[in-house]
Amino acid sequence: MTTVPTGGHRAQPQTGHTAAAPFGARVAADILAQMPHLAERVTTDTLAAICTRAALQTGILTARCTMHDWCTETGEHRDHYSTYVEAPTPDGLGDPVLMAAIMSSDDKPPTIGFLDDNFTPDQTRERIAELRAHLDQVEALADQLAGVAPPEPAAETYSVHARGARGALANAEIFTSDARPLPWVAVWGEPMAEADLDVAGTDELIRDLEQFVTRLRALRNYIAAAEANR
Ligand SMILES: [Zn+2]
Repeated sequence: MTTVPTGGHRAQPQTGHTAAAPFGARVAADILAQMPHLAERVTTDTLAAICTRAALQTGILTARCTMHDWCTETGEHRDHYSTYVEAPTPDGLGDPVLMAAIMSSDDKPPTIGFLDDNFTPDQTRERIAELRAHLDQVEALADQLAGVAPPEPAAETYSVHARGARGALANAEIFTSDARPLPWVAVWGEPMAEADLDVAGTDELIRDLEQFVTRLRALRNYIAAAEANR
């Protein structure tokens, strides 16, 4: 049996296009290069604004932002904002929760506005990792109230399978050895873990993988505690 996951072709990712320089500034620079004497009567910035306005009015230029692909502002603007995203709230009436957007003002490098701060992509990922660990704790409260036993990292093997697959995509378990001072997390995959999934099967795998990551974090915390207590 082949281990190639599917007989189909790999889908090609869509490539983004790079942001162009402001239209008006480029046209103004071209005009002034052709007609240098105009510089005595109009500044480059003013001519750029005139060109932009004329291009917008005549439909040569769409009102879309020319600086950033992600920007949702239209017309001439200095403050750039992407679409805002926020966490769902049950009744839709409360204050927005965990709002985030890409933003850039006065041509400074864009940042992610999140948690009342501005972050680089790496800093954003660090905050997200903290929030995911926090959500594990919230889920543990739900388990506690529902009478679900907490994970016992030292005693359990955690596995994740795709629907219809004969082998596990991943297993994880705490291992110990007299030859090693500290326990470790052993992870391994199995043969015949491949599967072709529809939407429901993919949803199921996503749920199972998320649960697997939560359990993997419990294993990680177990060996981290052993390391701290050695
Ligand atoms: Zn913009």
